[in-house]
Amino acid sequence: MKPKGRTIINTGDGKGKTTAALGTVFRALGHGHRVCVIQFLKGQGRYGERIMAEQLDNLDWFICGKGFVFTKENIEDDRKVARKGFELAKEKVDSGQYDLIVLDEITYLPMYDFLEEKKIVELIQNKPENLSLILTGRGASPELMEVADTVSEIRVIKHAYEQGIKAQKGIEF
Ligand code: ATP
Ligand code: MG
Repeated sequence: MKPKGRTIINTGDGKGKTTAALGTVFRALGHGHRVCVIQFLKGQGRYGERIMAEQLDNLDWFICGKGFVFTKENIEDDRKVARKGFELAKEKVDSGQYDLIVLDEITYLPMYDFLEEKKIVELIQNKPENLSLILTGRGASPELMEVADTVSEIRVIKHAYEQGIKAQKGIEF
């Protein structure tokens, strides 16, 4: 019998939410599990993890973002892309095709008013029993944390950015 899947949330303002999720992806792939990563908000960029993902079997990767939300003028486009991404997430969750699905930066969807939070709560509550989910992003709400099994908050003690050290290849992207 397959073990029951669980829902994990990596939140907080420190560095390591996405990379911790990717560590679990690495672990799951090692066991031959089928994994899907859906990234919200982030635009197309040559992140090391995406380059690596192209080389791995059993791993499907989708980018559902236009980049960061900066101006009011393009916010409607961001909303559209985010909502489409959520529809894709629902489809992948229901497909029964995966053992693990990562919804990276999904906490920002309700935060920016792109999607009702209830929809994410329902997605978690209605997921297939054997599927595990990892949600990442700052500011996970109490409602979201309530329906998860494992919640970790990564707190910033300090970050190199504050000392003027720029984003570094292989570390930040
Ligand atoms: P990572 O992808 O490194 O695990 P993260 O997922 O915890 O980071 P995000 O807020 O998604 O954090 O990160 C966006 C980018 O900002 C990443 O390149 C990340 O390394 C960097 N970052 C994360 N936390 C901080 C911070 N407290 N101050 C400045 N930059 C940060
Ligand atoms: Mg992240």
